[in-house]
Amino acid sequence: MATVPTIRLNNGVEIPQLGFGVYQVPPEDTAEAVGAALEIGYRHIDTAEMYGNEKGVGEAIARSGIDRGEVFVTSKLNNGFHRRADALRAFDQTLADLGTDHLDLFLVHWPLPTIDVDYVETWKAMEEIYASGRCRAIGVSNFQPHHLRRLFAETEVRPAVNQIEVHPYLANDEARTFGAEHEIVTEAWSPIAQGKVLDDPAITEVARAVGRTPAQVVLRWHVQRGDVVFPKSVTRSRMEENFALFDFELDEGQMATLTALDRGERTGPDPDTFDFVPG
Ligand code: NAD
Repeated sequence: MATVPTIRLNNGVEIPQLGFGVYQVPPEDTAEAVGAALEIGYRHIDTAEMYGNEKGVGEAIARSGIDRGEVFVTSKLNNGFHRRADALRAFDQTLADLGTDHLDLFLVHWPLPTIDVDYVETWKAMEEIYASGRCRAIGVSNFQPHHLRRLFAETEVRPAVNQIEVHPYLANDEARTFGAEHEIVTEAWSPIAQGKVLDDPAITEVARAVGRTPAQVVLRWHVQRGDVVFPKSVTRSRMEENFALFDFELDEGQMATLTALDRGERTGPDPDTFDFVPG
């Protein structure tokens, strides 16, 4: 089984650079999909309260017989729980649904800068959760540099990661560079743009040259740039394909070919305006 490298977060916690994402995995299929991922060798699962499938993730880990300490589990505070008391309760519920006494990483899912609850209040609640010792690291998702600057100015704990949309069609360089300058690891969500980049002729050409699939080439590009990725698939052969990234390399020219595909194209919402709160 290939060894997945780890990246050291700013508080010393090690995170496997490759994980398995479960966005859009139906709750009833989640235990099976995560079970397959664990069998293949994934030891990092990225879920969220918003995905409605934390129970399935917990079930799969429990059933696998793998020691809880060997699986890095991330979940996220849903929109709608940004007030302090709601955030503390939501964290407890996430632990209960996952059937665990701690998380490895807990993230604020979206900053929601246009709603009336200030994300600074939310981050202070995250700091309390961290201080309780039930979460090994805390971070954010979809935060822009100007949101992070406010956290730096008004709170104590620096986020360990920022999970943002990044793929060959969306470089998101400003946020990535800001993270690198401030010891915040970038986690690249939708790393293959939900499949949209896989037919790109420049990518299929590199794939042909290295004898790998387009998905492997794109995921390898992320890995070589130092970001954390957790591609999603419920198809076992694709889960295996997406896991086989550590026995080949892209050369500088091939890396540059993928980097040059940036066209500022989001597949998801813009963090500065996204304001969805579940009713
Ligand atoms: P992704 O880029 O991982 O693409 C997933 C889709 O690509 C699959 O549904 C499948 O159709 C296809 N696919 C996967 N592997 C393939 C392969 N080898 N060959 C061909 N097609 C393949 O998209 P995603 O699921 O949106 O993102 C990955 C993870 O990132 C999510 O599961 C979630 O954990 C996280 N995420 C976080 C946020 C956030 O706001 N923080 C938003 C979206 C996703």
